[in-house]
Amino acid sequence: MSFWYEIWSCAGALVDTFSDVANPGRISLKDAVETNFMVPGISDTITTHIQGMYNARIMADSDTRLWLHTSDGLFTTNSAFRHLHMAVAFCPFARFYWVKFIPKKMSVMFWRFLRNAIPVDVRIQDCAINLASGCVCCAHRNIESMDHLFFRSEVATFLWDRFGAIFGIHRLNYSCLKDTIWAWFNIAPRGS
Ligand SMILES: [Zn+2]
Repeated sequence: MSFWYEIWSCAGALVDTFSDVANPGRISLKDAVETNFMVPGISDTITTHIQGMYNARIMADSDTRLWLHTSDGLFTTNSAFRHLHMAVAFCPFARFYWVKFIPKKMSVMFWRFLRNAIPVDVRIQDCAINLASGCVCCAHRNIESMDHLFFRSEVATFLWDRFGAIFGIHRLNYSCLKDTIWAWFNIAPRGS
């Protein structure tokens, strides 16, 4: 457990509580305890204060885990959401596929597609599982990937050519499923 960056007392993370301490290092709480909190960079006054915090924690009646992302150490779904929201990279697709007119099961499917989390054959092979891949969507079997199933297979190309053109999406202009979906969101009429 990190001495500076994780919450081990009920006063929040020390890096926030003592924000004027320069260059808080990567010292563990265990190491800090073993040196009686003689941590480089902090004054004797702060050391005494931290010793008091530690002793109060050790002598407390309760022994429960403290959540890092709230100052009082209590878990809330709100704080978890805010933490995850800030930690995850911005996805330009998100404002399109979570809209109300797209059925939720399709939104979830697309969310899984973006995270490479749909168990097509090539994804299973990625997990070091020996598997002979063979799609069931073409007369002559091909390797089953997301791009194949939804973009390159005989069924997929027929559907894209049949319906995509109506909405201004021409399959041959795009190199992969992701680019095509991006175009659909940006070119095709809203609600199509
Ligand atoms: Zn196929």
